[in-house]
Order: sequence, then C-alpha cells, then structure tokens
Amino acid sequence: MARIAIAGFLHETNTFAPGFTAYADFDAKAAFGGIVRGERMLANPKFPLATGGFVKEAQAAGHELFPILWCFAEPGGYVTADAFERILGEIVFGLAQNGPFDAVYLDLHGAMVSTEHDDAEAEILRRVRAVVGSIPVVNSLDLHGNIGPGMMEHADAMVAYRTYPHIDMRATGERAFRLVETLLESGRPLAKAIRTLPFLLPIHRQSTFTEPCKSIYEELEAIEAGDPELASLSFLPGFPLADIPMCGATVLAYGTTQAAADAAAERLAAIVAGHEAAFEPSLKSPKDAASLALGYTGNRSILLADIQDNAGAGGTSDTVGVIEALVAAKVPDAVVAILFDPESAAKAHAAGEGKAVTLDLGGKLVPGQQPFTTEVVVEKLSEGPFAMTGPMNGGLTADLGKMAQVRIGGVRVVISSARTQCNDQGYFRHAGIEPKDHKVIVVKSSNHYRADFQPLADQIVEIAAPGACDMNPANLKWTRLPEGMRLYGNGPAFKAGG
Ligand SMILES: [Zn+2]
Repeated sequence: MARIAIAGFLHETNTFAPGFTAYADFDAKAAFGGIVRGERMLANPKFPLATGGFVKEAQAAGHELFPILWCFAEPGGYVTADAFERILGEIVFGLAQNGPFDAVYLDLHGAMVSTEHDDAEAEILRRVRAVVGSIPVVNSLDLHGNIGPGMMEHADAMVAYRTYPHIDMRATGERAFRLVETLLESGRPLAKAIRTLPFLLPIHRQSTFTEPCKSIYEELEAIEAGDPELASLSFLPGFPLADIPMCGATVLAYGTTQAAADAAAERLAAIVAGHEAAFEPSLKSPKDAASLALGYTGNRSILLADIQDNAGAGGTSDTVGVIEALVAAKVPDAVVAILFDPESAAKAHAAGEGKAVTLDLGGKLVPGQQPFTTEVVVEKLSEGPFAMTGPMNGGLTADLGKMAQVRIGGVRVVISSARTQCNDQGYFRHAGIEPKDHKVIVVKSSNHYRADFQPLADQIVEIAAPGACDMNPANLKWTRLPEGMRLYGNGPAFKAGG
C-alpha cells in the first residue's frame, strides 16, 4: 500500500481574451461548485474528471489517498498572481505539512498562463517537486495543454485525454494511476521524449469525432499497445490562443528505454505531420449560416456552432452576431444557448413570464462589440441548481444563477448569469427548451457540443462570428511564438517583429 497525495488545479488561459481569471473564478459555483477541499474530493464516485478515475483505481488497489484541493475556473484571461499563489500555496502547504508521501498525482490542464508565469504548470510542478523530493510525481493533462520543457523536467510522467469532446477524462485519470503504479513498482524513472509540431492546429479541426484526429488517436493506441517498452504515449493538439513560447501541438512518450520513447514520439509526430493540410481554419459567415438554417429541410435539426464565442476557450459567451443574423433572416424556429448576460437575465426576471420587454442583449464584454437592442417576449424564467445529463458533464450539477428564455420572433435565446460553454442539453432544458423539438440549434461551443448535440443533427455548420476565440490563428497578433511556427496547417509562418 502506498500513500499518495492528490491535488487538482486546472485552467485553460486564452491570453487574447479580455480580463483576468481571479481566485473568485476558481471558487465560483458554475459547473463544479467551487474549490473542493480534503475528503470532499473523494465524495462523488461519479466525478467525471480525471481525479474521479484516479481515485476509483487507487482506492480499488488499496492505496491511502491524501486529498488536498481540486479546482477549475472557466477558461479566460491570464490567471492573477493572487489566485495562482493562494491556490498553489495551499497545495504546497498541504504537501509540506502532511508528508511523507510515496507519490503525488496532480490533475492539471496544461494550458494555464498566469500574469507571472508563461508556463504555469511548469511552476506548479517545480514547487511540488521542491517539497516532495524524488518520489513519483505524475499528472494528467487536458488534450489542449501547451507543453514545454519545464513540465517535462519536473513531472515523472504525464498523460493526456484522447478524446475531444473530452469524454475520457476519467479514463485518463485511470491511465495516470497505472503510471504511478509502474513507477512505484519498478523504483526507477521512465525515459521521456517530447516532439513539438511545427504548425498550430485550429481548435475546431481538433475534434476526434472527425478526421484526421479520429485516425491519429487510433494510431496512437496501436503504437502504445504494440511496444511493451512503451509506458505511455500522448498527443496534445494544443491550445492555439496563448501567445507564449510553448504554444503548440506536442507528442509525449514515456518508456522503459530512451530508444522506445524516442521512436514512439517520432513515429506519432510524423503521422500528425502527414495530415498537416487538414488543419486549416475555413468557416462560414453568420449570414451564410442563417441562409443554410432557413433552407434546412431535414427531419432532425441543423446545428450552428458559434465556435468563436466559446466560454470553454475563454470567450465571453455574450456576442450576438449569430442571433442578429438569425433574426434578420427571419428564421422561424431556432434556439440559442448560452448567452451570458446577467443584466438581461435580471430584467427578464423583473418583467415576468409572458411579458414583453426591451433588452440590450449581450455585446457588452468584447471591445468593439455592441448589444443587440430588441424587444423580446419572456418565455420562461428559472434559477438555482440543475442536473446535467450529457456524456461530458453527466453526474455534475450546474448553477448559472438567474436564467431566462426570451424569444425574438422565432428565435429563442437562453440567457444565464454565469458564463459557461454549452456542451450539455441540460442548459436548454433548465430554460424550458427541449432541443430536439427545434429545427435550428445554436450552441456557443467550439467542439465539446458534439458529445451531446451531434446525435440530434443532420448537418453541422461552424461559424466565424465575433468572439474572443478567433479560430484562425493567422488573424491573431502573435509576438512570442517560436520563429517559423506555421499559424495553421500549411499556413503563413510566424516571424518575430513581422
Ligand atoms: Zn480541452
């Protein structure tokens, strides 16, 4: 039996997004109920993130767990020094006061940037390592991690999700547990290898529901299964909304020999590079998407993905480009979620169900954007916690504060008072909408929506409407990428000062 400390500190930082991510954002109710401390980390046996899978396997194997703290903030701007120091300080203090431990497991994202640290996870791992010494330190990662040399140095092993939408978060925690066991049993470190791809991968082209990523991950699993000297292989397409030197796609390999790790990393990186041309950013305009919606004659629904206003990538979830296009085109039956606008939610609640009221919908948080001022009918008001049911968030309870369903002609908009990505039908249902009963479904999400919404749709349209998550990296003002990094597959190369 081993004594294993566990902690989680997750953020995906969009350095191009407005605002900062503060301590209160990590402690917000939203999808995860705020910072979870101590034994409460073990309380939900269905916890759908990596920690849940790690805990289940470690307990089944009879190990003693020492849970310190777990927290997540909705993706957004730089993490403040205050948030970073307070949360990491609590983790490091917990390790220092309660040791000795035989191993440490950390549930990390891999794309956190703080105001002080470009590679915040490297700093987390460096400080954890400084306290615990040479025992195994293993962490799981989101598939969107941007991995640099600091993380490679301080972690004994790292393993990333293999699905996007992320429906294998628990399975990744289980993989992390197996790496801890491997390290404890052998008493020897694993050999490590990392390869960085020479081009950025636009987020909406990273889906594992579509090619080429579907095949890439199948090949990854075949390579991993085919070599007994290989302990773990990961491919991270990365998070191309972070202007830092380690932004990019990577392959990570761990093996009992350096040759095995190097060969696997080399082989998988070559497979990804062979698909470079597929990672290009083409998208539809809101107007063209509204025309497609108007002309849709299928039996199920057409799904419009407002992928550039994705809270899950740091978007404000309050831009109105798609809503305005649908209203202008007089689309007769559309439902939209989730528009983050506490002011409009409060006004709708003050007006009451069935009432008409004029709202300044959204458009408040991205510089240069304007609200959509329009009369709406308040169809449904709601508030408080509700269950989520989809493949990603099922098992969690959300609370987005005051919510309202308002209607402009045939366009129904779900308004919330907390910002989150629409990746679960529960968000619509809590506002009185059954998504499958509507011809046009609009989600503010880049790809996670596919897990719960793709089964409802005959057709999916990805839209370039205004938002803080520009899906074409070539449109962004980069200053700190490695020289020569192509901004998308076969795209223009970054040139410092160029
Ligand atoms: Zn992710």
